[in-house]
Order: sequence, then structure tokens, then C-alpha cells
Amino acid sequence: MSYIGRFAPSPTGPLHEGSLLTALASYLDAKHHQGRWLLRIEDLDTPRCHRTHETSILSALEAYGFEWYGTVTRQSERIDLYEQVYHDLLKAKHAYWCDCSRSDLKQRQALAHYDRRCLNRISVTQPAALRFKVEQCRSFNDRLLGHQPCHKEALGDFILYRRDQIVAYQLAVVVDDYQQNINHIVRGRDLLLETEKQRVLQLTLGYPMIRYAHLPLVLAKDGQKLSKQTFATPLTTEKQGVTDNLHTALQRLGQLESGQFISHNPCEIMSHAIKVWDINKIPKTV
Ligand code: GLU
Repeated sequence: MSYIGRFAPSPTGPLHEGSLLTALASYLDAKHHQGRWLLRIEDLDTPRCHRTHETSILSALEAYGFEWYGTVTRQSERIDLYEQVYHDLLKAKHAYWCDCSRSDLKQRQALAHYDRRCLNRISVTQPAALRFKVEQCRSFNDRLLGHQPCHKEALGDFILYRRDQIVAYQLAVVVDDYQQNINHIVRGRDLLLETEKQRVLQLTLGYPMIRYAHLPLVLAKDGQKLSKQTFATPLTTEKQGVTDNLHTALQRLGQLESGQFISHNPCEIMSHAIKVWDINKIPKTV
């Protein structure tokens, strides 16, 4: 089957240097393999997602020369699909309702790793969250990091549907990747534990396995991961800035010597980078 990859930003803020690295690596890898690169807006967390951020993400991607396949998908328009899958999981007893509040969990030190108190409850009070019953776990081979053992004890029975009635990221992402026939994912190393959870869910749902590559993270000066929530500087769309940022990102990804210049034109930079792309050149840290 031919390569189908994707970039899946959450519109919780504008793109920054870290997001550019992820977008670029996933794009170049897909294009180098004559694949398709899909764009999906992960906008389920309604309190944190805004249309203005989506608009700025799309115009930044255009300014940097990205060309996505087909139309942009929005998770907020696919909620029925996710609900169908969680009903199936519930019916098959792979999931259960849990009404433990955040403060209860904190008190019992069960926030990060749920203690299964609700596993055999006949009924729960509303509002309740839906938890996935983690029963299996499998190691995998990351294209950049090599063998990744599975840490069942670190997973815990994670949430598929939140108490505030929002479909959780884990469920939506797995359903979408399956529905969109995604077979390659290139994204940041901060999502490694999420990948383990997603793989367990894929396994239970009988979905085909995906090949993963987890990229090194661009860190801020204080050593923290750049993120939209911590107000990392938005990517400029001004012409010279775009040229500079693309060259810097390619250098960080080990695809360009320092000081090497390709072009002022983003499309020319992209077509050169697609041609020479070699995922094995990505350094351990950027
Ligand atoms: N939406 C997630 C983010 O912006 C990325 C999810 C993914 O690549 O699976 O961090």
C-alpha cells in the first residue's frame, strides 16, 4: 500500500518552530516516498481551540509551501464516528464508565495511573468519563528510536470520553488515522507515551498497525518544549523569515549543511528537500 501520512495540529495557538519541524519532517517523508500528506485539524478540545488559530495555521502552512492532499479534515465534524466506536468498545466490555472526580483521583494518587476503582461498578453517577480497559500492550520499532518496549504499568486505563462530554484525543486520533488509511506517522517525541496508548487501542479495534517515527523536540532556552500553550513565538509568514526558518528547520533535521543555501522560494526549497530527504540523517537532538 502506498504511503499515507498526515499532520494533525490542534488549533490552540499559532504554529511555532517546533510545529514547523514536525510538519516539515512528516511532509518530506511522505513526499519523498511519493505518498499523500493529509491535513487534519484536531479541534475537539473546544475550550482551548479557536477558529482564528486554525486560520493562522493554514495560512502559515501555505506560506511555507506545504501542499496537502484533498480537503482539510476537522475532528469537530466527525463526532458521530467517534461515538459509534466508543459505544462498540463499551458493548464489548473494553471500556467502562468512571465517575471519580479529579480531586478523588488526586487524593488516591491515581491521576496518572488509574486504580480501576470503577471497573466493576454496575452504575455510576453522571457526569462520568469513559475509560479504556488496558489489557494488552505490544512493543514496536520506531523508525528513529528503534525498539520501544511497551510499559503497560505506565499506561493506566486512559480516558476515551471525558466527563465534560468531549471525545478524548486518544480515541479520535486512532479512529481518524484508521478511517483516513494513515500508515505512517512522523511527530514529536513528546507523544511517545500517547503512541503506546494508541497502539493498544488499534490492537483492540483490529486496526492495522502504523509505522511511527518520533522526532527530537525543539526546546526553548529554558530547556522546556516549545508549545502553543507556553506562547512560543508564532512562525512569521514574512518572505525572508519563511526562507530563513525553512533553512534552519532543514539544518536541524540534518538535511542541510550549516550555511548551505537552497533558494528564496519556498516551493524550490521544498522540492530540493523532498529529493534529498533521508530520515536517517535526523540527529538525536536538534
Ligand atoms: N494534535 C496534536 C498536537 O497538536 C498532535 C497529534 C498527533 O500528531 O497525533 O500536538
